[in-house]
Amino acid sequence: MVSYPGAFTNICLVLPLALPIAVATTISLAAKAACAAIAADGIETLTSEADWLNGDYITAQSHYWSAANADLIPACAVFPANAHDVSGIVTALLDQPGVNFAVKSGGHNPNVGYSCVDGGVLISMSKISSTVLSEDKKTAQVGTGSRWLGAAQALEPYNLTVVSGRIGTYLRPSVLI
Ligand SMILES: Cc1cc2nc3c(=O)[nH]c(=O)nc-3n(C[C@H](O)[C@H](O)[C@H](O)COP(=O)(O)OP(=O)(O)OC[C@H]3O[C@@H](n4cnc5c(N)ncnc54)[C@H](O)[C@@H]3O)c2cc1C
Repeated sequence: MVSYPGAFTNICLVLPLALPIAVATTISLAAKAACAAIAADGIETLTSEADWLNGDYITAQSHYWSAANADLIPACAVFPANAHDVSGIVTALLDQPGVNFAVKSGGHNPNVGYSCVDGGVLISMSKISSTVLSEDKKTAQVGTGSRWLGAAQALEPYNLTVVSGRIGTYLRPSVLI
């Protein structure tokens, strides 16, 4: 049996470096109030202060095509599941007009600040990801948070497909907007 005496030490050194530095920005009271109001409305809300180790928070904050976007730390990431939730988030933001926000679908746009936000509310559309085929099978509703691959897989049983980007794992609904 071969042993690697240095392996455990190396893992201990490497793991902390892989974690996001999630509390790098100052969070305003107004931003905290907006996050709290959204959470009070029953919408999943993960804050950079309390939930920075939560997998959904990490994915929302750090999974971007361009790493520069992941440098921005939102006060909270919120996850609407339907149009009613989106409406609740917009209402909460209207009550705090000084709070910046960003909408993120795939996070594929390389421009910093388009789908990421520093100290504000990050609206992740990841929960709105279903593909629903119409009864006459002529149109399909594709959620803004879905991936091309998921849409294609949902339509495949009906011998249908979607005209889309070439890479199925990308989540790029804004191409359609
Ligand atoms: C390598 C590469 C190749 C590309 N190739 C092409 C190409 O061939 N053709 C092409 O057209 N584009 C291309 N793009 C651009 C890409 O399609 C756009 O950046 C697109 O906006 C990405 O979609 P997304 O959902 O990932 O965007 P995100 O980064 O999540 O969002 C982009 C913008 O749309 C807004 N937004 C996102 N979701 C919503 C929503 N539900 N409602 C309202 N606003 C929303 C965001 O706030 C943000 O301003 C390419 C980009 C890269 C990096």
